[in-house]
This record gives sequence, structure tokens and C-alpha cells, in this order.
Amino acid sequence: MQMTILSSLKNTQLLDSACSRTEVRQRFLDGISAEMSIALADGSRLAILLVDLQDFTEINREIGYDSADEVLLNVQQLLSSTIKRASLIGRLGDNAFGLIIPELKSTALIQIAMGRIRERLHEPTMIDGKKISLKCHFGLALFPEMMLDDGGLLLKAETALLDSKRNPSEMTTHAPVPCSKKHEDWTIEKHLKQALDANDLEFHYQPKIDIARRKPTGIEALVRWNSAELGDVFPDEFIPIAEKSSLINSITALGIKTALREKSDLDNFFEPLTMSINISSSDIYDKHLLDKLNSAMAIWGIDPQQVTLEITEGVIVGNAKLAIQQLELLRSYGIKISIDDFGTGFSSLSYFKTLPADELKIDKSFILNMHESSGDMFLVEHVISLAHKFNLQVVAEGVENAKTLSLLESMGCDIAQGYHFSRPVPKDQLLEWLNNFEVAKYWI
Ligand code: C2E
Ligand code: MG
Ligand code: MG
Repeated sequence: MQMTILSSLKNTQLLDSACSRTEVRQRFLDGISAEMSIALADGSRLAILLVDLQDFTEINREIGYDSADEVLLNVQQLLSSTIKRASLIGRLGDNAFGLIIPELKSTALIQIAMGRIRERLHEPTMIDGKKISLKCHFGLALFPEMMLDDGGLLLKAETALLDSKRNPSEMTTHAPVPCSKKHEDWTIEKHLKQALDANDLEFHYQPKIDIARRKPTGIEALVRWNSAELGDVFPDEFIPIAEKSSLINSITALGIKTALREKSDLDNFFEPLTMSINISSSDIYDKHLLDKLNSAMAIWGIDPQQVTLEITEGVIVGNAKLAIQQLELLRSYGIKISIDDFGTGFSSLSYFKTLPADELKIDKSFILNMHESSGDMFLVEHVISLAHKFNLQVVAEGVENAKTLSLLESMGCDIAQGYHFSRPVPKDQLLEWLNNFEVAKYWI
């Protein structure tokens, strides 16, 4: 059947619900794809909002299928008149609608929009002499917060919808949620500077496990700050502040020195494990980065092949050409490059082609609920197979249970990292963990 646009209300296209579900879905995906191109070109944001009517089977039973179909048509009209900014609305499932909302100025607006939808659906209407009042669940995915392709973005919204059905008190967006701020930026910056001067930052280490060989293969160094004045401050809170000043270069320099020293110590007791160090985008443009690495590797007798730098895709947002040159230079010395937090932020499948890298780490937000979410599972499987085509080793972070581990194993994922094995711990505890490692504790 030829897909038709039912009507055009203030530029909102309503997809004809008489068309097959596959056609509506394809048309909706095309709509997402078109709006993504516009958003990329003009730097705007885009939301994919799914609205799923609750307990609609009950309503079907109560008023009959014909009247229920009428209700669904009314809902589509109600959505278009409530969210006038939507560029496309289509019925994607039995009782689920998808909206594409371009040029989103702030996420607060989407919260308001959801509140309005909820209220208006709840207003009782009379159908065949029966009072109908509707409730709904939402699923939301934002672009470019999630730099996926059209299908990936829709899947993310669907996964968020499933999560919100499971946990109705929470609205899951699958967009990175900024952590709540405990302290003002300037307070953190001031104390962080003092902490660096006083050598008060520490590093904890989390093991990375080779899934096929079922043994530890590497470790990741993660900075820790217990401030006398502020208490525990988490990296997610202070790293972005450090990144706005030169403090980040000092943290990186400390990370390189400390992690390589600890690695050389661990190598005395355990077979050599690769050491992964997180670096920020500005470090890539630091012309002394290679010197810092070379001098620490020389002091501690470390083979560059055993050093991995974890970067996020943000590195090429600045000067892509220069960043790529730097990464290639580092790799020419044998240092490995890993793309961290893949799937959030600005990562997109095109990075497989662009970034000179050896490893890709799938962000934990996809892994954490994978055993319960078919959407996340599909995405993870897809990313693993694509990454392998580009000769990238794949790490799954956030592996918290044996079920997730066995799923990853069946998908051919190379490396697992997460609380199921160990939280990030001080070096001595890690050594103890390594010495007590037994396959039977983790594989069931
Ligand atoms: P990341 O590099 O992606 O590190 C993974 C984060 O996930 C760590 O949080 C780790 O503790 C946590 N994690 C590991 N396994 C699990 C799990 O099974 N479940 C859950 N829920 N979480 C898990 P952490 O240590 O708070 O670090 C957060 C981020 O801060 C890091 O994300 C990294 O981007 C940044 N960071 C940490 N240390 C450094 C550093 O030395 N330099 C720089 N530039 N950034 C750092
Ligand atoms: Mg990392
Ligand atoms: Mg990560």
C-alpha cells in the first residue's frame, strides 16, 4: 500500500494508521533520519518520544475494537494538537505512538510536553456512552546526546519505554543524565588544585577479563578523590571541571606516572596485564603527552604495547585532523587507543571508520540492563559485530552479573569489566583479587 500522509496540522505529519506497521515504522525511521541530518547541520537537538497507552486491552474489551480504533485515532489527533512542534507522528505499535520533535530547546520542555500529554489523555471522554480515561508510559531518546543512527535512536526510545513500564515511577531517557551537583564548580576547582599540590588524589584499579580465555587481561586506572573539606568527590563531578582548566593535564600526568608505576609493581607478582588510562580531549592536543608517556614507560620498563589510552569521541570534536594525527603518532609507538563510553555522547557508527583505534568500550548504560532489555541486547550485538569488522577489540563495561556475562560471551564480546568481577579497588586489593581469581566464581 502506498504510504500516505493523513493530514498536515501546523506542519505535523500524521502517518496513516491504515498502513502496515512495517511501512509506518519505515516512514518514521526515514523521518528520524531526515531530522537528524538537519540537527547535525544546524546544531539543534531532536527528541524521539514514544507514548504507550496503558491497559488498552481492557478498553478494547470494554468498548469493542471499532470504538477502540476510534479512540486511537483521537489520541493521534490529541498528540498532534498538544505537541504542535512535532514534525511526524505515527502509530508504531498496537497502542504506541511515536513523535519526532525537532529543534528542542531544552529537556525541560519535553518534561512539560509529557505532563501535558498525560493530563490530556487522562481527561475523560465519552465513547459509546462510556467514560474513557487513558494513562500512558513514555520512552524518550535524545539526539545528539545519543549519536546513534535512526534505527539505534528509535531502539533507544523503545528500550526507555520498556524500562519505564517496568519502573513506572521513573522516566528513563537513555540520555546521559548529568549528576546532581553537590558543590559549586569554583569550590571544587579550588580544592582540587590544593589536592593536586598536596598529592591527595589516588588511583583505584578495575580488572578487565578476557572472556574467551576466561582470565584477567588488563586493568583500568580510575582516579579517586577523598577531600578533607568536601568528602568523596566523584570523577564524573570533578573531571569536567578540571577539563575546563589546565588541572586536567596535571591529573593525566599523575595518572600516567602512578598507573605505570603500579603496573610495574604488579608485574612482579602477576603475569603482565595491560594498563588502561583515561585521558581527556585536551590531553590529545598536549604536545608533551607523548614525552610524559615515554618517560614513565622508560622509568618503569613498560612495553608501550601494554599501555592503552581511553578516549571519548569528544577528542575529534575540536580539531579532528590534529587529533587523528596525534592518535596515529601514539599508535606508531605501539600505544593502544580505546574509544570509551561508546553509544553515548557524540559517538556514532561513523567513528569506526574515522578514529584510529584498537578497542571499543560499549558504555555501561547499554550493558547494565541488557539481560532484561531486548533493545539493548540487539544494540550490543550489532555494535560487537560491526566493531569486529573494523578489527576493533570490544570491551563491555558495567558487567554486573553472570547472566550478562554469558550473553556477552555468546555474542563474541572480547573483554568484560564490571562489578561482577570487581569494583575499582586500591592496588593491593587488586593483587589479592588477582591471586584469588577462579573461573568458577564468575561463570555459572
Ligand atoms: P569510565 O572511564 O567509563 O569508567 C567506568 C566507570 O564505570 C567508573 O566510574 C567505574 O567505577 C564504573 N563502573 C565499572 N564497573 C561498573 C559496573 O559494573 N556497574 C556500574 N554501575 N558502574 C561500573 P568512575 O570511577 O566513577 O569514573 C567515571 C568516569 O570518570 C570514567 O568513566 C572516566 O570517564 C572519568 N575518569 C575516571 N578517572 C579518570 C582519570 O584518571 N582521568 C580522566 N580524564 N577521566 C577519568
Ligand atoms: Mg574508561
Ligand atoms: Mg566508559
